Amino acid sequence: MGGNPRSDRWLRTGHDFLFAEIGSGVKPRATRFMHITDILNQRRPSLSFEFFPPRSESAWDSLYQTIVDLEAYGPSFVSVTYGAGGTTRDATHDLVVRIKETTDIPPIPHLTCVGHSEAEIDAILERYAKAGVANILALRGDPPRDQPDYDWSDSDFRYASDLVTFIRRFNESGRHPDPRGFGIGVAGFPEGHPATPNRLAEIDHLKAKIDAGADYICTQLFFDNHDFLDFRDRCAIAGIEVPILAGLMPVTSTKGMSRMADLAAGARFPARLLKALARAGDDPAAVEKVGIHYAAEQASGLLDEGVDGIHFYTLNKSAATREIYASLGMGPVAKA
Ligand SMILES: Cc1cc2nc3c(=O)[nH]c(=O)nc-3n(C[C@H](O)[C@H](O)[C@H](O)COP(=O)(O)OP(=O)(O)OC[C@H]3O[C@@H](n4cnc5c(N)ncnc54)[C@H](O)[C@@H]3O)c2cc1C
Repeated sequence: MGGNPRSDRWLRTGHDFLFAEIGSGVKPRATRFMHITDILNQRRPSLSFEFFPPRSESAWDSLYQTIVDLEAYGPSFVSVTYGAGGTTRDATHDLVVRIKETTDIPPIPHLTCVGHSEAEIDAILERYAKAGVANILALRGDPPRDQPDYDWSDSDFRYASDLVTFIRRFNESGRHPDPRGFGIGVAGFPEGHPATPNRLAEIDHLKAKIDAGADYICTQLFFDNHDFLDFRDRCAIAGIEVPILAGLMPVTSTKGMSRMADLAAGARFPARLLKALARAGDDPAAVEKVGIHYAAEQASGLLDEGVDGIHFYTLNKSAATREIYASLGMGPVAKA
């Protein structure tokens, strides 16, 4: 681990040990609030990664390894997903706080509001504020899969814009230790969100989230840069001026690809990518190579187009992202 004591600690510690270590009074890192505006002022384009809270003990170990591997690349931030319907509420919080306490990477928790009451969201925000977490990605979330006719009438929050408004009010109440409060991110959908077929209406809904107080947009994954560039233009025409980070996910297996299409609610796979994958056939190594090469080309094209940032959906693995970095001519960052 190249003599990096912090990295060694991620590795040596198992889940419980790390808990014990933090619990036994290891001094937290100096508190410095990296509001998203600070992060994006520091480096544009930003480069960031997304993780999800693991479900098994062994998966925690491999996630620690992934974080160690990627920390060396000096990411602008990492984000941690929130399981559908709040199913990972504590796990998301714990992972975010651990990243904050044991690395130099600013962590951004995702928070979905579907199914949560205002009191619950308030308690979650309070806990993050106390932990000195500086930013939140505010999402609506999807209704439970087994309830296609989900009844929104009792919901405290119907759309993500309601959550953004709620967080802004929390910020204004002065309960966050940073006087600016939480930096707020929202989701954007270059290919459109399935619930709103009308693209003009959708951009209006996105604008409502920005007007409610969001500081940046992170997009759903996409495989054709034209979709992103067209989306970015449409945002500009609608007067959306906040930074837009492009979500990229390298295809690393055919199984992962179908999971991806499911998660990304019907992201389109362009013929060029499908043809290249077909050439790779059943050879997993060839599929991975094709996927990484394709994502690297996408990233390079986006950088040429002056993208504000690239957000890599890592699926808790680091190899593909590291290869993409390498192919862009970027390597691990030397520590000052
Ligand atoms: C970057 C990113 C990260 C994500 N992370 C997670 C995660 O961690 N956990 C998770 O469960 N899900 C996650 N999701 C999925 C997301 O929760 C779903 O895609 C959800 O359906 C939409 O969330 P939203 O925040 O965009 O919702 P909204 O912005 O509320 O939009 C939802 C739909 O409602 C429409 N709409 C909005 N306002 C109005 C209005 N006033 N009137 C009528 N229609 C309206 C929109 O056009 C859209 O079709 C993520 C998505 C992205 C892109």
